[in-house]
Parts: sequence; C-alpha cells; structure tokens
Amino acid sequence: MNITDPFRDADGDKLREECGIFGVIGARDASAMVALGLHALQHRGQEAVGIVSFDGQEFYSTKGQGHVAANFSSGEAIASLPGIMASGHVRYSTTGGSGLRNVQPLFADLASGGFSIAHNGNISNAMFLKRDLVRKGAIFQSTSDTEVIIHLVATSRYPTLLDRFVDALRLVEGAYALICMTPVGMIACRDPLGIRPLVMGKLGEAMVLASETVALDVVGAEFVRQIDPGELVEIDFDGNVRSHRPFGNESARPCIFEHVYFSRPDSIVDGRSVYQVRKEIGAQLAIESPVEADLVVPVPDSGVPAAIGYASQSGIPFELGIIRSHYVGRTFIQPSDGARNADVKRKHNANRALVAGKRIVLIDDSIVRGTTSLKIVQMMRDAGAKEIHFRVASPPTEHSCFYGVDTPERSKLLAARMDVAQMAEFIQADSLAFVSIDGLYRAVGEAGRTKACPQYCDACFTGEYPTRLTDLAEREDPDQYSLPVEKVA
Ligand code: SF4
Repeated sequence: MNITDPFRDADGDKLREECGIFGVIGARDASAMVALGLHALQHRGQEAVGIVSFDGQEFYSTKGQGHVAANFSSGEAIASLPGIMASGHVRYSTTGGSGLRNVQPLFADLASGGFSIAHNGNISNAMFLKRDLVRKGAIFQSTSDTEVIIHLVATSRYPTLLDRFVDALRLVEGAYALICMTPVGMIACRDPLGIRPLVMGKLGEAMVLASETVALDVVGAEFVRQIDPGELVEIDFDGNVRSHRPFGNESARPCIFEHVYFSRPDSIVDGRSVYQVRKEIGAQLAIESPVEADLVVPVPDSGVPAAIGYASQSGIPFELGIIRSHYVGRTFIQPSDGARNADVKRKHNANRALVAGKRIVLIDDSIVRGTTSLKIVQMMRDAGAKEIHFRVASPPTEHSCFYGVDTPERSKLLAARMDVAQMAEFIQADSLAFVSIDGLYRAVGEAGRTKACPQYCDACFTGEYPTRLTDLAEREDPDQYSLPVEKVA
C-alpha cells in the first residue's frame, strides 16, 4: 500500500519545494535548536531529515526518513548530537533518489578537516561536472548533486578552504543556498542570483541561519538580515561575521514562487510579508478577472490569503466553502463504488450547506497537472454549487523548474498542453483566469516585470531561465534532471 504524505496532494499535483536548511553556531543546545528550526521548515521537505553537529573535536551525524518529529523528538536523538554548532536539512527526493545516503547534510573529511554541507537548490550542471570528476578518479558516495561541490572543494588547488570553496562555486551553475560547517566555524552563501532564500538571525550570542524567517521566530531568534545574492558569510565561534562577495555584482533573481506558494505565509521573503503578498495577488486577480458571484471560496490552506484579497477587492463575501481535514495520513483502499474522488475528499470536503445553489469564485495558488483542480470542481458541483469560476493566484505554470523545485516534466503540465479555454473545459469550470505576470510583479511591490532584466526568477511561467542549463542542453529528453536516477530496492 502506498503511503501519502499529509502535506502532499493525493496525486502529487503540486509543485514542491525540495529542501529547507537551518544552522546555529554558538549555542549550548545547538542540535535541539536545529531540530526545532527544521520543524518550522517542515513544509519545505518531508521525506527525510538530517542533522550534523560539531563539539570542537568531532562531527556527529544523524539522518532518517520522514518528518523531523519522528526522528528528533527524543532526548537520546539530541544527546547523540553534542556541541555548540549544528546544521540540518529537510528534503524531498526527486527521481527515486530517496536513499539515506542522499539525506543531507553531507559530510566529508577533507585535507583541512571535517566539512559538512546542507544545500537548498539544484545544480544545473551537476552531471557535466560529475562526469569530469569521475574521469579524474573521484568516487561518489551519493547520487545527490550537492556532493559535486564537496569533490570540487577537495580537488581545488587553492591553499585555504575558503578559496577552495569559492573556486568550487565558480564552476557551479544553478541555484544554491548553502550552510557548511568546518572545524573553525560556519560558512553560508547564496548563488549569485539569490534564487533560493537564506536569512540570518541572532539569539543571545548564537548566530542562526535559516531558509525562512519563520524558523527564526520559532526558535526565538531575532531576524538580522538576509544573506544577499552572491554573498558568502563566515561565522566563527566568537560570533564574528565576515562577509565576502566573490562573484561580483549580478542582478538578483530570487524565486517568485516562494511568494506564491513555497514559503510559509508568516515568513518575510525579500523584505516582504508572504501573507500580504498573497492577499495582494488575490486583489490583482479581482481587478484583472472580475466575475458576478455569491461567494469567494479558497482551496485551503494555500489559497486562503489570495481569496481574502480577492474578496476584499471585489466586495464578494469570503467563506470557507471547503473544509480541510488535518488528519490525513495513510492512503486507504478506495471502495470501488460510490466514492468519486474519495482521495481528494479525505483532505478537502465541500461545505455543502454553504455552497449549494451558490455562484462560487474558487481560488487556488496554482494549477500544475490539473487533476486536483478537476476533482475539487467536481466536488463542489456534487455539493450543489450553481456556478464555479476558478481563479488562480499565479500565471499558468508552463515550464519545469530546474532550481530545486520538484516539477513534473513539461509535457505533464496542463498549461503547456492547453490554452486557458481548454484548461477551463478540462477542469470543468464555468470560467478560468490566472493572474497576469505583471499582476504578480505588482503584488510583490514592483511596477511590473522588467522585460530586459526581470527582477525575479519566473521561468516556470515565462520559460526565461536565468542561468545556463548545461545538463538539460545535453539531454535528448528534457525531463527534470536534478538528480541522477537511483534505483531503490
Ligand atoms: S523556475 Fe519557478 S519555481 Fe523554479 S526557481 Fe524559478 S520561479 Fe522558482
């Protein structure tokens, strides 16, 4: 029997962030703080979790499949990770690479001493680099793209670890937010475009790094600042922070989908409240695609802020016309008769008394394959809704992501196969509209998208990838190629 993650749609019909990272240096209970921080980042990856700690002499590592709480809620688990420095990682796997050997942080003994690395993102020339490294004798222990960085650091000819690290990153294309640990402290950095997020906080004498500000809040740390795109930060055990900018000054292109869906609404991303941005996207949708209706209903939970924004802009009442179960766990064997869309209904159920006979504006954050949208529309019709006008708080997702987000191959994306009218017919909605790309940019506080030099990565909507995609260009079959395929026994 398959096991479904409670956070995931029954048929995987959502883009999924693949990783969250968290690190702390200078705290007596560092690994306990990391476990708590990773718990706050659980929405960024639920298949596996790992923590590495350092006690001044030795590095310690614990990894496991599943959620943070399942692996790190016991005193024994935390006691096995001593020291005042620790970092951790939550992840999804891609293309079958879910073995424990791929669970991060990865660790290696280099000439300079122990080195651990936790990576959020995806290296888009990992296969190219790996082929060359293997030819030169490197022996890979995992099928993770992140291990390429370790081998590049190990084989660099520069004298200091920092120079070797920079030398390695100069060869790497794609997206990376990294937290690394060495015997002398922590190194954090973001790729030159800042595609994936990373923020820094402070708790007493301890310095804290996290993918999102919500993790700082949860451990009680005060937000200091984001790590800037292309910035590399060294933090020592006395709390001294040294900033380097080894990649020059490129224009930043952070992932705009962090605002649409990935980040928690209580996080601050790129200086903006994710919740407020999502409300503003809903308001833009109402301006761009108004419709006569009785109720605005979100697909919970991710559609809620945009629906509030749509309702407030349009004057149509906001109501919870779909109720989400918080107890979705294992997949059930479906009864063969009389249980249309039972998989969706276990997670979402129509509030029949509210929606029967009503014209509904249904708000969701995105449409990926379209199969879940179809089931939700059918569920609302079964509950007696008179009209269903589907409004989507992102532009059509027409392209795959190669920067650390699990996207179906392009041929499976509904928007890559159909125009909006065809998509409306496919999901059986009375009307369908997406926020425009300029509307999305307005919601994040820009005047619009600057065509010549877009302010964000928006490649899954526009197809304009901000980096080279070397591995993809070498392939005949343009699937996502974030990790080599690993056969799971
Ligand atoms: S392609 Fe889309 S999901 Fe991927 S980094 Fe760019 S905006 Fe984000």
